Amino acid sequence: VKASNSLSFSLQAKMSRPVQARRLKGIDKNIWVEFVKLAATYSKVNLGQGFPDYPAPDFLTEAFTRALSGGNHMLHQYTRAFGHPPLVKVLAQFFEKLLGRDLDPMTNVMVTVGAYQALFCCFQALVDEGDEVIIIEPFFDCYEPMVKMAGGTPVFVPLRLNPPKDGKLMSSADWQLDPAELASKFSERTKAIVLNSPNNPLGKVFSRGELGLIAELCVKHDVLCISDEVYEWLVYDGKQHIRIASLQGMWDRTVIVGSAGKTFSATGWKVGWVVGPDRLLQHLRTVHQNSVYHCATIAQEAVAQGFQRELMLYGKPESYFVQLPKELQQKRDWLIQSLDGVGMKPIVPEGTYFLVADISQFKSDVPDVPNSDEPYDYRFAKWMVKNKGLAAIPLSAFYSEAHKNNYTNFIRFCFAKEEATLKAANDILQKWKQEKTSS
Ligand code: PMP
Repeated sequence: VKASNSLSFSLQAKMSRPVQARRLKGIDKNIWVEFVKLAATYSKVNLGQGFPDYPAPDFLTEAFTRALSGGNHMLHQYTRAFGHPPLVKVLAQFFEKLLGRDLDPMTNVMVTVGAYQALFCCFQALVDEGDEVIIIEPFFDCYEPMVKMAGGTPVFVPLRLNPPKDGKLMSSADWQLDPAELASKFSERTKAIVLNSPNNPLGKVFSRGELGLIAELCVKHDVLCISDEVYEWLVYDGKQHIRIASLQGMWDRTVIVGSAGKTFSATGWKVGWVVGPDRLLQHLRTVHQNSVYHCATIAQEAVAQGFQRELMLYGKPESYFVQLPKELQQKRDWLIQSLDGVGMKPIVPEGTYFLVADISQFKSDVPDVPNSDEPYDYRFAKWMVKNKGLAAIPLSAFYSEAHKNNYTNFIRFCFAKEEATLKAANDILQKWKQEKTSS
């Protein structure tokens, strides 16, 4: 008995040692775990997480099938670590066109496991202990923990809302950087700024003037730019997506991040890329080499063929990059109408497949939770999915802890959905409105 007691004591003693690495402290809470679960449990219509519920285009899935079961069995094996040669070659050709400069497929392009891993490589490769990284709020939520995991300090600067005075619908363009406030965040400690245009969650497409301001500050302070452009093709109303890397002085200090998931409506494939100068990409390659090493060959082959097609049809009406935004603009407008009709004031997005709506007129619908410090938008989104079956994401999830409480009157919807899904959402909203007016 004595022997087994001492054995169990020594095992317990071993278990009491902290297991979590210090770099994970404070970043272990994640909005998606909770809200994805809530949506799976309660939602009849899920406009929460950002992915399409319509199929990827036939030309892409056919390319995948050909790669899978065609004659080339080597496509089931490892390919080049930094990107399958056909994919980096066609990406280089494509971005040469977009950026108006020569690119070397082997040194200016790298394929990653979705844009997520592209971002991870950027922060790990470029940010040191003590470095500051400027993040524009609201932001795609993983930037903050990724900066922290790299040992850096995020410095937040919010887009400020200037609501239209003429009773018009709000637009994502009404959310703007305050130039003096932005400038005040740059210092000798600033290593990089993260730019996300078109922006998730607002749908803001940064104008040439705004990008010029950011570029000027980057050049002045010798700061790098991590430019997350995963929604580059999803721009509406004739607006133009401008690549900050094409502005003067910016190519040498910018990494462009892209995603086949967003570009070709195939988020599950997890094919992404970075494009940039070798002086930056060489360090991203080191991280990639020593973490995932490589991405699925067949998915890369199929995406390469998708880009071949798009290169051939560039700017033509049959191009997927021309058709997709047209279809999404229509979906955006349906959702705007549905939301506006019930008083959930939409902020018209200039890009992306997200739409943020103002829920301040719904406060009386949601029961107060005594002693809860949960923000209103969280309570609202939870209440809505449980009681109405409609899933969305609270906007304050896209803000830093310090600024969250200033933005609790909004929720984000994703409209990359079948017409039937958007109609079902409209039915829920209409019914809700009728119940409100009859009560
Ligand atoms: N950046 C932004 C702004 C995103 O919205 C997303 C996906 N929601 C990603 C990066 C990650 O893209 P991927 O699925 O290709 O990893």
